[in-house]
Amino acid sequence: MPQKLALLGGKPIRKRPYRRYITIGPEEKKAAMEVLDRGALSEFVGDWSDAFNGGRYVRMFEAAWAKRFGFRHAVSVNSATSGLYAAVGALGLGPGDEMLVPPFTMTASAAAALVYGAVPIFVDIEPDYFCIDPDAIEKAITPRTKAIMVVHITGQPADMERIMTIARKHRLKVIEDCAQVAGATLNGRPVGSFGDIGVFSLNCHKTIQTGEGGVAVTDDDQLALRLKLIRNHGEYAVQGMPEVKDLTNIVGFNYRLGELEAAIGIEQLKKLERFTRPRIELARELDEGLARIPGVTPPPVRPGARHVYYMYGIRFDGDAIGVSRDLLVKALQAEGVEISAGSCVPLYLEPLYQRRVGIGRDGHPWSCPSYKGTVSYRKGICPNAERLHFREMATTQVLRHGHSRDVEVREFLDAFEKVWDNLSELKRLDNAQQGVAARA
Ligand SMILES: *Cc1c(COP(=O)(O)O)cnc(C)c1O
Repeated sequence: MPQKLALLGGKPIRKRPYRRYITIGPEEKKAAMEVLDRGALSEFVGDWSDAFNGGRYVRMFEAAWAKRFGFRHAVSVNSATSGLYAAVGALGLGPGDEMLVPPFTMTASAAAALVYGAVPIFVDIEPDYFCIDPDAIEKAITPRTKAIMVVHITGQPADMERIMTIARKHRLKVIEDCAQVAGATLNGRPVGSFGDIGVFSLNCHKTIQTGEGGVAVTDDDQLALRLKLIRNHGEYAVQGMPEVKDLTNIVGFNYRLGELEAAIGIEQLKKLERFTRPRIELARELDEGLARIPGVTPPPVRPGARHVYYMYGIRFDGDAIGVSRDLLVKALQAEGVEISAGSCVPLYLEPLYQRRVGIGRDGHPWSCPSYKGTVSYRKGICPNAERLHFREMATTQVLRHGHSRDVEVREFLDAFEKVWDNLSELKRLDNAQQGVAARA
C-alpha cells in the first residue's frame, strides 16, 4: 500500500515551512555600519561635476562589479527595471521602433520599450531552454525592428552566439536582461558581455541582493555615459557637457543607488560563488532523482553554458502521466515542498497589451503616427510560452543555498516518488474534476 497523499488527508513529507532566504551576514552589517558612521547615504548630485557619478561606495561597487566580470563599465542603478529602461533609452529607441522580446519573463523586460514609445513584439521561446528562440527572432524582424531584448531566464544563458550573428546581420541593438543570471557564462564568457548592454538585478529575491538595486554593464564608453545621464537628470547635466551632441532620450530620471546598498553590494558580490556553487551541485542531485520519475523532464543545460539555477524549471508530460500538471503540483505542494505551476504568464496576455492602453489616453505607442507596423497580441502567438506556462512547466527554488541534499532536496524527491506511487488515485480525481469542468 502506498502512503496516503497529504492532498487526500495523509501526512505530508515536510511539515515545517522553509526558512526565509537570507543572504545577509556580519560582513554586510559591518559595511552598512561604515556607511552610517560616515553619515553620507548618497553623494550623487544631478549636475555635471565630480559628484555626478555618485559617492565612495557607489564607485567602489561599480569598480568591483566591472572587475569581477571583466566589463569596461558597470553603472549601478536602483533596480534592474530602471537599468532596463535606461538601456532602451541609451540605445536610442523611440516612437516607430519595434523591440523583440520574449513573453516568458518579468514584465519590465517588455515595458522598457513602451516607456520610450517603442512597440514590444513578442517572440516565442525555446521549448527546452525557455529562452528567446533565434529562429523566431529571424521571422519577427521587420524594417522597424531596432533592438532585441534577450532574457536569460531561470539562470540559463540564451543562445547568444546565434542571436548576435542575427543582430549583426540586421544591425540590431541587443540588450541582455541578466536579472536572474549573475555568475552564468556561455562558452566561458559572462552573460551581459555579448550584447550592447547587460542588466543585472539585486532585488531581494535574486541570488545576491541589496534589497533593491541593479547594475547595467557595457564595454562602450558612449553608452556608459548615456546610461549615467539617464540615471541622473541628464537633461540638466548636459548643460555643462558641450561634447554631448546626441540629446535623444537624455531626459533623465533618478535611478541612483544609495551608498548603503552599494556597500552591501560589495560584500554580496564577494559571496556570489559561495551561493551559486551549491545551487549547481544540488541541481545535479535533482536532475538525477527526477530522471527516474516517468513523464518528468529536468531542465537541460545548453551546451557550453553555466546555468546558475535562480530557479529550476521542470516539465511535466501530463498526457503520458495521465494526470494534469496542475493536480500533480497541488499534490506535491500538499506534501509541503516548494513548487509552483507555471512560471510567467506570457506578457502579451496582460491587460496592458490586450487593451492597448499604454501611454496617455490615445493608445500610444501603437497608435502613434510614427508607428507604421501592425502587431498581434492574441492568444496563440507564442505557443511554446503558452504551453509551458499553462500546461507543462513548474518551477521550484528548492536549490537555494542553505538547503541541503539530505534534507530539502531529499524531501522534494521523496514527494515526487510518493505522488507517483499514488498516480492511479490522482487519475481518478483528475478525471472527476475534468468531468465537473466539462459539465460546468
Ligand atoms: C527580477 C527581474 C527583473 C526586475 O528586477 P528588479 O531589480 O526587481 O527591477 C527583470 N527581469 C527579470 C528577468 C527578472 O527576473
